[in-house]
Amino acid sequence: MCAGLMDGRDLSAGAVGAVKFVRNPISVARQLMAEKEVILVGDGALKFAKEKGAPLASHEELKAEEEKQLVTEGAHDTVGAVALDMGGNLAAGCSTGGLSGQKVGRIGDSPLPGGGLYADNHNGAVSFSGDGETIARLALAARVMASIEDGETLEQAISKGVAKLPGAGGAEADGGGIGIHKDGTIGWAHNSPMFAVGYATSAAAEPKIYLHKDEESSG
Ligand code: ASP
Repeated sequence: MCAGLMDGRDLSAGAVGAVKFVRNPISVARQLMAEKEVILVGDGALKFAKEKGAPLASHEELKAEEEKQLVTEGAHDTVGAVALDMGGNLAAGCSTGGLSGQKVGRIGDSPLPGGGLYADNHNGAVSFSGDGETIARLALAARVMASIEDGETLEQAISKGVAKLPGAGGAEADGGGIGIHKDGTIGWAHNSPMFAVGYATSAAAEPKIYLHKDEESSG
């Protein structure tokens, strides 16, 4: 598992990569935000999690989970989240089991600030899911921040980033991202066949839930 979290107030970030047995990697990433290190991986991440008393899974549970992933090859379990509070503070998070068939020790974009996630109170917050190698190579989250600084809307910025996925890492590369601008505007885009998104704002009575961008325009 990999997970990362970033605080737009001070750019503090915490992430764990290629860590096993930890039940809630994002909570361990949260605890790392208080430390000097930004990313811990593998045994080091597990050691840190244990020191912090993080709940762990047993060998049996881990094996069952790995077998389930083999059966559901191609399934994605990545969760990305962004938030803006009433004080104008932004945060971005991302958690993933990675890609099926990945090499032992492989880390994708999800724990990388500037890759799969970024939050900066001066710009916005964004979180990506998809082909991790390509997202990392393109530094997609960092590109979104730069585009916002150049005056683009959040949705333009994410769409432009997503459009770079095919070709940059091979024809198969796809994915999507969701973000929130410092002004509260929500934006999302994907070039994957589906991209499950949910968002809630103080202005709307009900949360919005979509599986594809096309559904948004029809309500
Ligand atoms: N981006 C994740 C990774 O490459 C996988 C995903 O989002 O499905 O590890």
